[in-house]
Amino acid sequence: MDQMMTGAEPHADLRAEVAKLCARFPGEYWRKLDEVRGYPTEFVQALTEAGYLAALIPEEYGGAGLGLSAAAAILEEVQRQGCNGAACHAQMYIMGTILRHGSDAQKAEYLPRIASGELRLQAFGVTEPTSGTDTTALRTTARREGDRYIVNGQKIWTSRAEHSDLMLLLARTTPRDGVAKKTEGLSTFIVDMRRALDNGLTIRPIRTMMNHNSCEVFFDNMEVPAENLVGEEGRGFRYVLDGMNAERLLIASECIGDAKWFIDKAVAYAKERVLFGRPIGANQGVQFPIAQAYARMRAAEAIVQKGLERFERGERPGEEANMGKMLAAEASWAAGEACIQTHGGFGFAEEYDIERKFRETRLYQVAPISTNLVLSYLGEHVLGMPRSY
Ligand SMILES: Cc1cc2nc3c(=O)[nH]c(=O)nc-3n(C[C@H](O)[C@H](O)[C@H](O)COP(=O)(O)OP(=O)(O)OC[C@H]3O[C@@H](n4cnc5c(N)ncnc54)[C@H](O)[C@@H]3O)c2cc1C
Repeated sequence: MDQMMTGAEPHADLRAEVAKLCARFPGEYWRKLDEVRGYPTEFVQALTEAGYLAALIPEEYGGAGLGLSAAAAILEEVQRQGCNGAACHAQMYIMGTILRHGSDAQKAEYLPRIASGELRLQAFGVTEPTSGTDTTALRTTARREGDRYIVNGQKIWTSRAEHSDLMLLLARTTPRDGVAKKTEGLSTFIVDMRRALDNGLTIRPIRTMMNHNSCEVFFDNMEVPAENLVGEEGRGFRYVLDGMNAERLLIASECIGDAKWFIDKAVAYAKERVLFGRPIGANQGVQFPIAQAYARMRAAEAIVQKGLERFERGERPGEEANMGKMLAAEASWAAGEACIQTHGGFGFAEEYDIERKFRETRLYQVAPISTNLVLSYLGEHVLGMPRSY
């Protein structure tokens, strides 16, 4: 299948290397895992060994010390090759919290082992069943007792919890009525899940529409050593917010990769499928939805590029990160829709991988932040309208 070149693809060499690695994990590999909701251990291992998951870890800690645009290029390429970076993408953005706010001791303890693949930091425990998007209403508590914290509560949608050694956990350390603002009194912790399992930590997988290894996680008097508190107690929500621009830009890049995969596939089929004596792509009714999706993807790509540039200049690209994530998720969905429609009945056959990618890419209009909340951000913080919630 020919691949489009959009002219906005920095890190060409890196992308080519990632594409080579991905070629070892064809559609068949992902289809089998999808059937049993399995974890792509070999794929994650290969990405780790190649150093891609440590792209953002500074060289002094054993990583590649690259910027966010390199990480974005890696994830975009993974999706573009038909693979699924959801199995491990979180490592790239969760780790930023330790990098920015962790102590020297925590960095020395964890980062080299994450870089080498000895430890996986894949689980991010923020969302709870009753609070959802309203993060500061979360109910999980961490109470200090001497040299440890005692954690009680529950998380939901904690992806990859069964396949991660460490979890970055957000919990309330000061009750809501003990702080002036609801954003205060929350703290972040590094939880060693291997030690905690069966010592207060229970994990229950949730079967979802696509293979995402998401789980419910329960804490029943789970002990976390006080030294695992990241940064200052009570400032955890701020730390999580600090990481959101990176998270959104990376997820947006994945969506752009998905959109490119769908568009390449749709174009190839539109040129090759002959009906009524000519390729179906000669019909505007087939051609235009694909062209439309391409235009939407390019627009999203331009915003995401701008966000990455601003991020790497040390600015806070909240506007581009939010817009880019929303537009890219919508573009990948439009591209998926055009791809299925172009393939007619074959779009629904598992062996074409389209229906799998279609299910996988739908998530990004909801998680890690839903479209309405992006629009609320733009309405309030960019356009200066009253807060809507
Ligand atoms: C497969 C999957 C994997 C995930 N992985 C993780 C993970 O690893 N870690 C983690 O912490 N979380 C994870 N999440 C959770 C994800 O971030 C949340 O699902 C998402 O933030 C939405 O929260 P919610 O599902 O509770 O929906 P709700 O907050 O209940 O929202 C429901 C709907 O109401 C809308 N809505 C809510 N409030 C407003 C408002 N004020 N104005 C307008 N509309 C509003 C939302 O846009 C949404 O459409 C995952 C979710 C899924 C489905």
